[in-house]
Amino acid sequence: MSLKCVFCKKTVFGPGGLTVPTIGPAHRHCYEAYRTMRRTFRSIDITLLTDDELNDLKDLVLAEENDRKRKNKGTPDSDIELF
Ligand SMILES: [Zn+2]
Repeated sequence: MSLKCVFCKKTVFGPGGLTVPTIGPAHRHCYEAYRTMRRTFRSIDITLLTDDELNDLKDLVLAEENDRKRKNKGTPDSDIELF
């Protein structure tokens, strides 16, 4: 039995190999390079998103970013928050 890396096509054996779900056997370093190239975040491959989904994600990121900036700075004219 010889498994070939789906990325570099060389034989995979030993602890440097892994099986990528739905893709096949691969070298760990080939998979890492692939993941970087594929622009995955957590388990989401953003290259697979539709344009609409990508826009939604972008809006979410921007909204979260703004929210954090606001919280970190504490704008002078913001309402006083009581805890
Ligand atoms: Zn490889």
